Amino acid sequence: PPVVAVVGRPNVGKSTLVNRILGRREAVVEDVPGVTRDRVAYDAAWGGRRFTVLDTGGWEPNAEGLAAAVADQARLAVDAADVVLFVVDATVGATDTDEAVADVLRRSKKPVVLTANKVDDSRAESDATLLWSLGLGEPLTVSALHGRGSGDLLDAVLHALPEEAPPETFGVAGGPRRIALLGRPNVGKSSLLNKLAGENRVVVDSVAGTTRDPVDELIELGGQTWKFVDTAGIRRRARENQGADFYATLRTQSALDRSEVAVVLVDASEPLAEQDLRIISMVIESGRSLVLAFNKWDLVDEERRHFLDREIDRQLHHARWAPRVNISARTGRHVEKLVPGIETALAGWGERVPTARLNSFMSDLIAAKPHPVRGGKQPRVMFATQAGVQPPRFVLFTTGFLEEGYRRFIERRLREEFGFDGTPIEISMKIRE
Ligand code: GDP
Repeated sequence: PPVVAVVGRPNVGKSTLVNRILGRREAVVEDVPGVTRDRVAYDAAWGGRRFTVLDTGGWEPNAEGLAAAVADQARLAVDAADVVLFVVDATVGATDTDEAVADVLRRSKKPVVLTANKVDDSRAESDATLLWSLGLGEPLTVSALHGRGSGDLLDAVLHALPEEAPPETFGVAGGPRRIALLGRPNVGKSSLLNKLAGENRVVVDSVAGTTRDPVDELIELGGQTWKFVDTAGIRRRARENQGADFYATLRTQSALDRSEVAVVLVDASEPLAEQDLRIISMVIESGRSLVLAFNKWDLVDEERRHFLDREIDRQLHHARWAPRVNISARTGRHVEKLVPGIETALAGWGERVPTARLNSFMSDLIAAKPHPVRGGKQPRVMFATQAGVQPPRFVLFTTGFLEEGYRRFIERRLREEFGFDGTPIEISMKIRE
């Protein structure tokens, strides 16, 4: 849902207004200096539209350099928000700090709803007219405390929200889910394909463009039809006894480009090879979901198994979230278990965490383990949003650079909390120093 950020000086009534918008009074505590909020983002709805309310109250700066600090807070909010709700205290009028914020907002080109708060009765209305001077259009008068004018305010917010995006459909509109079967030569790709296709191959003569030289193959598994992409490449490669490395890499990349999930086949009977790791890295970098299939399990004895576990620990740590299946393309052992693995990976790939939930999780995480102090500064995550799916992408709005280790910690905790099995996660930062 779109994000509506509430900004303004301390004590203008931002939190009270947030409570008013949420239609409850108990959620946010009064402005108490030094009290850190436990939450910054809330789910709200008005007139059938859902949106996220971002309460910037917790970002309030120290007393020194108030104007600059509040302006910074506004910049951060502008980056994160679709609409900015700028709250000014009508009984005080426009202060220097308000002017500084207005300046930031005017330049941002984001829609702004200017709110003149503490207009408790009609006599106070005239105070608000002075706020035209901020250059942000008509001030909407409200009393956050008593609720006066809040309906009109929400109508204005609704009006400023971006057009509703069409509902997302994962793999529904696009036909069968697309699988790339990858792996270095001789790991058993064509054997597996033959095994899977065997009885289950879907005749594609009726599908336009696929009759002559089908590069893809439709195969029915676990009651569903799947599209294995570039299977012609796999079969041909087997026949020609492999091309040069360069072409293999090109084929892998083009199969990845066309797929949603990669099943990377590894020969479990041999030590992991450089090329296995390279292919797995290509999958992760391409942002596709991943299933690891350890093939030739019929050749794996107790001792090999022990070594394999250690290799996986050491060399596949960066893909530890990928579902693993031990199979034998030759005997057919456990090949049917590929399907739940693939389903898990595709589900993780398309998973979305609601903004409010993400932020309550994030503030707990930060409270439990703040970023280490670096050079006298301690970067903080002010707000987080999931910018997209397939793969899940997160943007963290921060007050400084988060070091690699801390970002990895955040990723680990995100996975513990929300799953994301079988998918890489992208985390980026928007920094306001
Ligand atoms: P590709 O190059 O990845 O397509 O590999 P192939 O499917 O051509 O297989 C390479 C070799 O490994 C062939 O001799 C297969 O018979 C053998 N092979 C494939 N899968 C298995 C398996 O699960 N167990 C055993 N023991 N051999 C296998």
